[in-house]
Amino acid sequence: MLIRTVQGALPVLLCSLILLLPQLLAGSHPAIMNLVTVLPWLLLCAAWLVSRLYAQPKVSFILLVSLVAYSILELYLQQLLPFGHNELMLWLLCLMVPPLIITFELVPDLMAGESNNWKCYLLLASVLALGAVLLVEIPATSEQLLSSLPGLDLGDPPLAGLILLVTSMTVPLAMLFQRRESVDMAALMALLVLGFGVCGFKVESMPEVAFSAMGVFTILLLLLHSYRLAFFDTLTGLRNRRSLESMLNDLPRGFHLAMADVDHFKQFNDTYGHEVGDEVLRLVAQLLDEVEGGGKVYRLGGEEFVIVFRSRTRGCCANALENVRRKVASYPFRIRRPLNQPVDHDKQERVEQITVSLGLVQQSIDDRHLDDVLRRADAALYRAKNRGRNCLVVDNGRPFPWTIIGRGHTLP
Ligand code: GH3
Ligand code: MG
Ligand code: MG
Repeated sequence: MLIRTVQGALPVLLCSLILLLPQLLAGSHPAIMNLVTVLPWLLLCAAWLVSRLYAQPKVSFILLVSLVAYSILELYLQQLLPFGHNELMLWLLCLMVPPLIITFELVPDLMAGESNNWKCYLLLASVLALGAVLLVEIPATSEQLLSSLPGLDLGDPPLAGLILLVTSMTVPLAMLFQRRESVDMAALMALLVLGFGVCGFKVESMPEVAFSAMGVFTILLLLLHSYRLAFFDTLTGLRNRRSLESMLNDLPRGFHLAMADVDHFKQFNDTYGHEVGDEVLRLVAQLLDEVEGGGKVYRLGGEEFVIVFRSRTRGCCANALENVRRKVASYPFRIRRPLNQPVDHDKQERVEQITVSLGLVQQSIDDRHLDDVLRRADAALYRAKNRGRNCLVVDNGRPFPWTIIGRGHTLP
């Protein structure tokens, strides 16, 4: 949740930084200003390297596009190219860069991957070559061509071009709502930065700050992404086993731990297919995650989950687990089209009951490692399975080892 919030705040932070920092930098020592000029190249290259390291080829291509866009802006600022076609340069940036960014955002993973990405490089090189011809070789003809198009005026800043740029931001925004991938955030930031670069073309150090910030924020985005991969389960979004292991060191002695397992899940998979099974696992995870009593839910692997309570009060933990067990058991899992039925039965809907069995233990002084606690929780879970499933078994320790709750049994 915290990671999602930080990720969501990145574009706002990016815009704030781009608006504030140029004012703070105004009138700085020339040596600092020289450094500010080269910083975007360094930071965008660093971000590109990190994206390659984390195997994010689509982000790499978006960074390359940003690198090219900044280079074009900067070359004009340094007056290396014949000056006088600023409006055309800004127009071409607005016209050519957003479609490139969106193409690299939406291109299938396979095409952007290491062994098959020559088409992406070819596209980048072609657009670059076309831009160079229009801007450097035949600028007068290009300007004429653009002004002859109805509704397109070469303005400074190019208003129609900016509208196009802002409109193109709806694509990464929509994708962020739909799939929330790092590449969508990278695409949105690249478009924002391009917008600031084009609008703030004449504002001292604004393009430099904008593209430097793009480098830094993309590195941050990739770090957050790798953190999520390391500590969260990709299917359910719950924390994973590694996260559980690192968290257990901070728990007070005598904490409670429950192991939960979906009943007869293999049979469910065999009937409806793995994809429906995955969907059900997501739903079960969501329901388990609503557990009360301060329980934190982890996916241990497969259809097994762990719920950890800091509390030492067994009754409170058992109550919370019993409530969540009932919630899962009474949830109507609607399956729209069983995979073994023809497509024209699409509208047919089946309601299935899914249940979970649970085993609860309290950590004792004999438990030295996580595995000891997990082994005892697994033994309690095993008992719950043997008792007919869809119930909670509490390991009370000696001398009265087990209490069975659920399926007609009541809490002690
Ligand atoms: P029990 O009530 O004794 O737990 O029976 P079970 O069928 O749930 O247990 P079993 O260990 O025999 O099978 C577990 C099944 O869970 C096998 C596997 O197909 C399924 N499974 C494990 N991980 C996943 C997953 O990520 N997605 C899907 N769809 N199925 C999974
Ligand atoms: Mg199972
Ligand atoms: Mg299992």
